[in-house]
Amino acid sequence: MRCPFCQHPDNRVLESRSAEASQSVRRRRECLKCGRRFTTYERIEYVPIAIIKRDGDRESFDRSKLLRGIVRACEKTGIGSDRLEALVDEIEAELQQRAVREVPSTEIGELVLQRLQFLSEVAYIRFASVYRQFRGIRDFIDTLNHLQGCLNQGEGTSEAAESSIDVVAGAEAGSEQETPAAFMTHS
Ligand SMILES: [Zn+2]
Repeated sequence: MRCPFCQHPDNRVLESRSAEASQSVRRRRECLKCGRRFTTYERIEYVPIAIIKRDGDRESFDRSKLLRGIVRACEKTGIGSDRLEALVDEIEAELQQRAVREVPSTEIGELVLQRLQFLSEVAYIRFASVYRQFRGIRDFIDTLNHLQGCLNQGEGTSEAAESSIDVVAGAEAGSEQETPAAFMTHS
């Protein structure tokens, strides 16, 4: 960045602080040649993200629409609105970091589900039922099985940990050889 007075390219930063409600950074600089001071503002460039809908139409990413869907799924689960806002922030930040500016709506649904599975099982199922367009009880059962598998793989809840112990105990009572197969059918 050149000095606005003498065009010299080098300067030093005297002070940095956030401005405009942390949307930008204000820097006070001093030219290394003429010694005059000037101010610069640095701001994050938000590039619009297009969502590819199931029918192939495109619409721009709408964070309030996404938040509404998540809030609906999380009703009466006791998860605070701050946490849900943070979840949308995380997803938006992740999308902003991508080189590709078009994202299928199903992929955004999966990003939400990845996070909901650790927040609330009820919210996870509700959100999945809308996003994956459940048609019958079979879809719920498949999703529950998948969720159970994910929780067992991760740190999991104590409930999930107990049920995986049951599986191991049951398999050992029969034949130890069958233990891996028993897990395979659950994941
Ligand atoms: Zn200068």
